[in-house]
Amino acid sequence: MSLRKRISLRNTLAFRLTLWYAGIFTVSSCVAFLLFYTLITSFIQDRTDQELLSQVNRFSTLSAAEGIEAVKSAAVLEAQAAGVKKVFFRLLSLNGQAFSSSNMAYWQDIDIDSMAIKELLHGRSRVFEIITIPKRREKVRVLYAFLSPTIILQVGEAMESYSRFLDAFRGIFITTMTFLIILAAGVGWFMARRAVSGVEAVTRTAQKISGGNLEERVPVKAKGDEIDQLATTFNQMLNRIQALLKEIKEMSDNIAHDLRSPITRIRGIAEVTLSAGKSLNEYEAMAASTVEECDRLLDMINTMLLISKTEAGVDRLIREEIDLTALVRKACELFEPAAEDKGVNLACSVPNGSRLVGDTRMIQRMLSNLLDNAIKYTPSGGSVSIFLLENDGQVAVSIRDTGIGLLPSDLPRIFERFYRCDQSRSQAGIGLGLSLARAVARAHGGDITVVSTPNQGSTFTVTLQKSPPSHS
Ligand code: ADP
Repeated sequence: MSLRKRISLRNTLAFRLTLWYAGIFTVSSCVAFLLFYTLITSFIQDRTDQELLSQVNRFSTLSAAEGIEAVKSAAVLEAQAAGVKKVFFRLLSLNGQAFSSSNMAYWQDIDIDSMAIKELLHGRSRVFEIITIPKRREKVRVLYAFLSPTIILQVGEAMESYSRFLDAFRGIFITTMTFLIILAAGVGWFMARRAVSGVEAVTRTAQKISGGNLEERVPVKAKGDEIDQLATTFNQMLNRIQALLKEIKEMSDNIAHDLRSPITRIRGIAEVTLSAGKSLNEYEAMAASTVEECDRLLDMINTMLLISKTEAGVDRLIREEIDLTALVRKACELFEPAAEDKGVNLACSVPNGSRLVGDTRMIQRMLSNLLDNAIKYTPSGGSVSIFLLENDGQVAVSIRDTGIGLLPSDLPRIFERFYRCDQSRSQAGIGLGLSLARAVARAHGGDITVVSTPNQGSTFTVTLQKSPPSHS
C-alpha cells in the first residue's frame, strides 16, 4: 500500500503546505488590491472635487464681474457643452429655493439637501455629497457653495466613467486573482511535494526495515539541506542499530559457547563417575568438580550482570571517600605472590595521599582484573609496574607490563564482552575482565585506554574523576 493511500490527502503535509501557501498568497493579494483600490478611488474623487470647485470659482468671478444674469446663461451653456447627462447647475436662494438651473430633465431625482444649506449658513464654505440615483444605479458628486453672500450654487457631476473604471478594475482583479490562486496552489503543491519527498524516502526505508531488511539505507542527495540531515542521521542510527545487533548476536554466541564448555564438563564427569566409579571417594570428587565448575559459571554470570548494571547505571555507585594510594598498594600486595610464582617482577610506584570519591569494591575489582591480566600475559622474567598520577580533578592509574602485547587489529575490540585475542587462548579466562574494568571507569566519570606493541608489552591507563558525577 503506498504512503499516499494510507494517509488521507487532507492530512498530508504537502496538502496543508499548499493550503497555507495559497491562503497567504490570496490574503496578501487582497490587501494589495484594497490598498490600490482605495488609493485610486480617492485620487479620482479628488480630481472630480477639483473640477467642481473650479466651476464654483469661475462662476463667482463671473457673478462679481457681470452679475447673476451672466451666470445663469453661462450655466446653461456650460452644461450643454459638457453634456446635459454629465453636469448640472442650480442657483439657490438662502432658503434653499432654486431660482435658475441648467437643463434638469436628466437630473429630476436630485433634490436640494436642506442639511447642506444649513451647514453653509452655519459657516461652512462648501459641502460635498455623493448621491446615488437608484433607478440608474448611478453616482453623482454634488457640491454646494456660495456664489455671493445671497446666492448658493449647487453643481453636480456624474461619476459614471469613474464607476465604470472601478467596475472594470474589480472585474480584472477577480479574473486575475482566480487564475493566480490556481497557479499558486499548483506551484505550492509542486514545491510541497518536492519538499516532503525526502521525508517519504525516509518513511519508505523505515517500512522496508520493519519488513526485516536492515541493510536498507536512505539515499542522501548531498544537497546539505534538512532532509539530507534527516537522512544522514537516520542512516547513522541504522548503522548503530546494525552494529549493536551484531554485538548482541556475537555476545549471545559467546555466552552459549562459554556456558556449553563447563556444562559439558560437568556432564562428562558425572557420566564417567556413574559408569565407572562406584566408591564414595569418586562420588566426592565428582561433587567437588561439579561445585568448582558451577562456581565458575556463577562467577561468569555474576560478572555479566555486574557489567550490565554498571553500564546502565542501575547499580548506583556507593560513593565513599577512598584512599586510592592504600587501595593500589593493597592490590599489589595481593598479587605479589602470584607474580613471584610466575617469575614476574611487580613494582608499585604510587605517591602518598591520593584520594577520591567512589565505590571501593568496584575499583578494587577493576585493579585486580588489570593486574591479573598484566601478570597473566607477561612471561617469566618480565615486569609489571603500576603508577599513579594526579591532575586537576582526575587521577590516572597506569599498569604497564612487558608481556606479549596486543596486535593493532585486536586493540579496538578487547573491551567488548567475551572478546579474547587468539594468542591468549591458552590462558584461563572468559573475556569479561576488561569489559568490567571499562564499565567501572566510566561509572566513575573516567575511561580506560591502552597502548601496546606486540611482544614488547602493554600499558593500560584508567582515568577516574576525583568526585564522579552522581547518577540521576
Ligand atoms: P580474559 O579473561 O581473557 O583475560 P579480559 O577481558 O580481561 O579477558 O581481556 C580480554 C583480552 O585482552 C584477553 O583475552 C587478552 O587477549 C587481552 N589482554 C588483556 N590484557 C592484556 C595484557 N596486559 N597483555 C596482553 N593482552 C591482554
